[in-house]
Amino acid sequence: MKLLSLLSVIALTGAPAVTAGPSAASALTCPPAVAKVTAVAAEVADGLDLTSCGAPKTVVADDIAVAIPAPGTGVMAIGVQTDGSDAHLTVQTDAEGVVSVTVEDHAAVTAPQRAAAVSRCKDNAVHVQGVKWYASPTYRINTSERRPSNLSSATWTNLITQSWSTVKNGTDGCGLTRALAVPGRIGAATTVDANMSGNTCTKPDAHSVIDFGNLTGSTLGLTCVVFKTHSGHDEILRADVRLDSSSRAWITNPKGCTGSRFDARSVLTHELGHAVGLAHAVERGGNDLTMSPQITACNASARLFGAGDLTSLYSLYKK
Ligand SMILES: [Zn+2]
Repeated sequence: MKLLSLLSVIALTGAPAVTAGPSAASALTCPPAVAKVTAVAAEVADGLDLTSCGAPKTVVADDIAVAIPAPGTGVMAIGVQTDGSDAHLTVQTDAEGVVSVTVEDHAAVTAPQRAAAVSRCKDNAVHVQGVKWYASPTYRINTSERRPSNLSSATWTNLITQSWSTVKNGTDGCGLTRALAVPGRIGAATTVDANMSGNTCTKPDAHSVIDFGNLTGSTLGLTCVVFKTHSGHDEILRADVRLDSSSRAWITNPKGCTGSRFDARSVLTHELGHAVGLAHAVERGGNDLTMSPQITACNASARLFGAGDLTSLYSLYKK
């Protein structure tokens, strides 16, 4: 993925820069210390032939982790957190079993940065991550398990349907229009879980699922995107979306919202944007696009796309 090798210069805070890419890997072999453990830091995993070190293995960076994918596939884990910081970890295994890792961090956006930023209807920054759907996925909703008691099954389903409609149609709050063909639909309810454990993207199954689950730390939402190499953009095979059920106060209507409560539909729309291939809008900006790395308490603006979100979607799924 060309994009990833560019992003890899934005490495773990406080850690040596990750020099991702299979080209650097051929001289490296699995050291005994790595062979004995089940989880390795991103900078250790990068460039190693970990398939020869015994499975399973997980790559960890900051607050998120990814189970090393099968040869020929990759997984992106993208989390958004309550403080506005986020982490974006991609682990890809090439056909020979060599693992490449990309870590991208965002610090929380400050109030002055936000105030100085271009408005969401004028910021046309394109933010894609080198992957897209070619097939048409069905996202299943887990309506029953770990759902917070203040959200009925019908409300949860309705929020997802509304969020998906925004992504599918590129609904924006700016009076812009684009002719889009975003593949996919929301399917019937399921009891299948998203392939996540805490903040780890675990081994994927055959389903793309939207559910609630226990995310760790201050993580609001996590999306795991499974992809394989494809000419042009790599091909998304599966995408799971999870919202945190552990201690989160979710709201369905931002009116009168105070305190540390978060708009479920805004976070869902943001995560579904990741599920179709959108990345974060800015590295360290302060704008207020749906795909901004920051979703602040009580903020519902991410429910509808801004200019850059729509431009990005159009670049992937022009009709
Ligand atoms: Zn995000």
